[in-house]
Amino acid sequence: MKPTKAYAAHNPAAALQPFDIQRREPGPKDVEIEIAYCGVCHSDIHMARNEWSFTQYPVVPGHEIVGRVTKTGAKVRRFKAGDAAAIGCLVNSCRKCPNCKAGLEQHCKETILSYNSKDRDGTITYGGYLLCAGITTYSPLKRFGVRKGSRLGVLGLGGLGHMGVKIGAALGAEVTVLSHSAGKRADAKRLGAHEFALTSDAKQAAALAGRFDVILDTVSADHDITAALGWLKIGGTVVLVGASPKPLALGAFALLGRKAVAGSLIGGIAETQEMLDFCARRKVLSDVEVVPIQKVNEAYERTIRGDVRYRFVIDLKSL
Ligand code: NAP
Ligand code: ZN
Ligand code: ZN
Repeated sequence: MKPTKAYAAHNPAAALQPFDIQRREPGPKDVEIEIAYCGVCHSDIHMARNEWSFTQYPVVPGHEIVGRVTKTGAKVRRFKAGDAAAIGCLVNSCRKCPNCKAGLEQHCKETILSYNSKDRDGTITYGGYLLCAGITTYSPLKRFGVRKGSRLGVLGLGGLGHMGVKIGAALGAEVTVLSHSAGKRADAKRLGAHEFALTSDAKQAAALAGRFDVILDTVSADHDITAALGWLKIGGTVVLVGASPKPLALGAFALLGRKAVAGSLIGGIAETQEMLDFCARRKVLSDVEVVPIQKVNEAYERTIRGDVRYRFVIDLKSL
């Protein structure tokens, strides 16, 4: 076992604080990395505060991890010490079930998430802090055929939303940001959106009726999804990736125009690599604010207030 420094929450009301964890030695197929940076996803906040009611304390959040390989197991072929490596939301799955074979490891019954998950040895996994926001937006945009000429609405301009805008624009779609924050109008254009609509303004919202092929809904809290359905063309789809802890109210009539509400959960390993290659090729980068680990609790509060442009990333040199 190897003592490792981390930051953990010990109960729903507690701030994250320094916490020493033990890491097992790498197994034959494991890669050990020194974490350099880790993004802060709103899911970390839901999880640290037990807003989804399945947190196991103490919890060490973080699933947007990049670093350098320090050690590899005997059977590892694709990585060697010194290589750059990245870890997203999951660290293991069975590789044999239909979902694993279809590249949907995130839906494997034996998936082990990067944190808050039981590892094969019975211990609980701990995270570290582009690998969630990028794949979570890329996967549904591809699945629902967003391409040149598509009209895409991105509802909520946060960490996921800003990647949705950039990836949607890179796929050739005409992108509109649908936001309840008037102050994000200029950013929306800068990030590559063609239009911006303030959803809390009744006039602007009414003008959106029947506009979009697809709306990518990234909102982290309870909100009016029935209104979003009204902004779709006949036959359009709202893809929900935001994970509101409270159920959303759905008006039946809003669906009758051959509309659909779909959902999407991160993405598999092969598609995550495809997303990274796509973003590298098209120079799609995240807009980040780098903070030391000591400011992680402040970063949580600012994320909740919508005061993040557009992803906090922790520099682990500070740990
Ligand atoms: P974030 O950076 O906090 O962004 C969320 C955005 O939602 C905010 O910037 C805000 O955008 C909007 N919003 C927040 N509260 C709102 C409210 N009360 N009413 C209307 N709009 C509101 O969060 P994130 O990291 O992008 O994550 C977003 C959600 O996706 C979270 O619930 C997270 O757990 C979930 N998630 C799901 C997956 C998946 O696999 N499905 C993966 C990662 C994250 P505006 O200011 O522009 O309105
Ligand atoms: Zn996430
Ligand atoms: Zn499986």
